[in-house]
Amino acid sequence: ATQTAVRLREVLAQMPDYKPGKPAAAPAGVTAYKLSSNENPYGPLPSVLAAIDDAAATVNRYPDMAVTALTERLAKALDVPAECIATGTGSVAVLAQIVNAACDAGDEVVFAWRSFEAYPIVTQLAGAKPIMVGLDEQARHRLDAMFAAITDRTRVILVCTPNNPTGPCVHQSELEAFLDKVPSDVIVVVDEAYVEFVRDPEAVRGLDVWRHRPNVVVLRTFSKAYGLAGLRVGYAVAHPPVAAALRKTATPFGVNSVAQVAAVASLDAFDELNERVESLVAERDRVVQALNDQGWKLPQSDANFVWFPLGADSTAFSQACSDAGLTVRQYGDDGVRATIGEVEANSRLIEVAAAFGAR
Ligand code: PMP
Repeated sequence: ATQTAVRLREVLAQMPDYKPGKPAAAPAGVTAYKLSSNENPYGPLPSVLAAIDDAAATVNRYPDMAVTALTERLAKALDVPAECIATGTGSVAVLAQIVNAACDAGDEVVFAWRSFEAYPIVTQLAGAKPIMVGLDEQARHRLDAMFAAITDRTRVILVCTPNNPTGPCVHQSELEAFLDKVPSDVIVVVDEAYVEFVRDPEAVRGLDVWRHRPNVVVLRTFSKAYGLAGLRVGYAVAHPPVAAALRKTATPFGVNSVAQVAAVASLDAFDELNERVESLVAERDRVVQALNDQGWKLPQSDANFVWFPLGADSTAFSQACSDAGLTVRQYGDDGVRATIGEVEANSRLIEVAAAFGAR
């Protein structure tokens, strides 16, 4: 970084830069695919595009700061009171709203690692301390170890299910047993960014847990199954005092007017979008089956991505993907995550994995 006399917070120097995946240059004659950000490969539905078009005509005006129409539509879809919903500029912003609402400097946020890269960033920006608890050998949350990590400074616990980047979901029975023990003044966030892709019958359903637990917050997004990553809209379902706090810590007018109407139109088009989710799940199952048949030992994936726990071979595999025109996300010497994308991209991933050799 270049030198400056300006005084910046010291914590910034310790924080990693968030590096989004950049599309690989494909070999000649081959289409490049971006499988590095868990995006939906399908473009917006015509009905959603039409709503976006209409809303674009009024962008000289500020959006509805209370996000009324979307909040009411979500309340109806989820069967929860509207006062329990808090929105934000992507669920990553809602996550920041939660941490900012709960943490003073030096307070602690407990989460599994590896998990979503934004967790330590959001925590440190709030002046709080990340407490990272390793996953087990199947890349699952160790809720017992996370419970043991709780101190009198713990304000928030983040449970990512399915876990990004490794894929397994947390089971309902494990989470209920965990929540029976966690102090009731600690917020437990159930981050369900990928919930629509879950097919494991034992998987936790955050809303069911939320209904009888005042300290639970469910975090959801329109970026993945709903295919609106570029518009940045996410939300939390929280009990009224917590939801009110999340509205206080939100960026004013953060959810823009185009995003608000696109999200409503997407909820209205649930059936059509759900067909796409079903085909992505079928594609995930096809990829997982093919990789298993090749002899790969991969953790369960209940999301729209697969995790290759490659250790020191991660760079070589990431390079092999890139040479084939596939951009995947490498996590140092831990592993590589590949999003389930277009059918052709998924087939190419299977071929690259076969040529690389199962691990
Ligand atoms: N939570 C998890 C687990 C994620 O993987 C992501 C996206 N990578 C998010 C939250 C944030 O998504 P968004 O801000 O687009 O809603």
